[in-house]
Amino acid sequence: MNALLLKEYLNLELVDMPKPEIGPHDVLVRVRACGICGSDVHGLDGKTGRRIPPLVMGHEAAGEVAETGSDVRDLRPGDRVTFDSTVYCGRCFHCLRGEANLCDNREVLGVSPGPYRRHGAFAEYVSVPRRIMYRLPDNLSYEQAALIEAVSVAVHAVGLTPVHLGDTAVVVGAGMIGLLTIQAVKLAGATRIIAVDPDESRLELALKMGATAKHNPTAGDAAAAIREMTEGRGADLALECVGASDPIRTAIGAVRKGGAVTLVGNVAPEINLPLQSVVTRQIRLQGSCASNGEYPACIALLSAGAIQVGPLISAVAPLADGPSWFDRLYRHEPNLMKVILRP
Ligand SMILES: [Zn+2]
Ligand SMILES: [Zn+2]
Repeated sequence: MNALLLKEYLNLELVDMPKPEIGPHDVLVRVRACGICGSDVHGLDGKTGRRIPPLVMGHEAAGEVAETGSDVRDLRPGDRVTFDSTVYCGRCFHCLRGEANLCDNREVLGVSPGPYRRHGAFAEYVSVPRRIMYRLPDNLSYEQAALIEAVSVAVHAVGLTPVHLGDTAVVVGAGMIGLLTIQAVKLAGATRIIAVDPDESRLELALKMGATAKHNPTAGDAAAAIREMTEGRGADLALECVGASDPIRTAIGAVRKGGAVTLVGNVAPEINLPLQSVVTRQIRLQGSCASNGEYPACIALLSAGAIQVGPLISAVAPLADGPSWFDRLYRHEPNLMKVILRP
């Protein structure tokens, strides 16, 4: 089969590889669409340590069933499916508590951090355990379905946030996850949503996706500006979708006393935390990791048109064009959101 292989850091090549083997509980999927994730682009040069070559990346995908393992009885060749990126064990302390995203033996498709290597979906075929696979309704295209993984991250984060009808929310970072989070927090009941991003084109997109106001932090003290927009009090909640000191400081400074900040972004391993502001104003900080069981809800939200992903897709290209699209994303070409490859 054709596969886009990270042969060594910064060297992606279309190669011929054997089809993956499947176990009794696995399904072989003929991949029809696979999105390039920011974490794949960050992983390209080895800085994150989570894409050790040789590796086929890709964990945001959809396709059709090609073959099923001997113990899989409820799917047939040709069925349209998507799948979660997290492969959980189902046996550890956290899995038994219903926290599959926190599984002690968690593996991610298309990732190789050292202890394991799991080839992903930038290939004609990928092997996926049945238990993380979901059927697609007919009205969702493979390209739309390839964004469900990202949608699930936003929906999970909003689910962990105490949102009440009529709340004012701040979403810091209007990249892929931020734009999906804006849509999800609106569905959860927030009526005013302030998007914060240094990129004006992203802020415009944020307004189209449901934000009611925007703020560009390059203009000065973002938290102060947002307090001014919210009766001097601050927003009820903030969702941070960048993952670095300054945006997290903005999120904390932008919420009112007793407010909540959910941390979704994950770039800097450590940050400076305004501790006294958090403690004396009794701010609730909540980390959010991947998703946990939100796939059926996300499929329903997309199928009903409640969450839009079409405006977030910048390009759909054949797998062979993968190296050049990775290169453009790696060089931070402006106005690129999601690029989807079709193996
Ligand atoms: Zn991803
Ligand atoms: Zn587990």
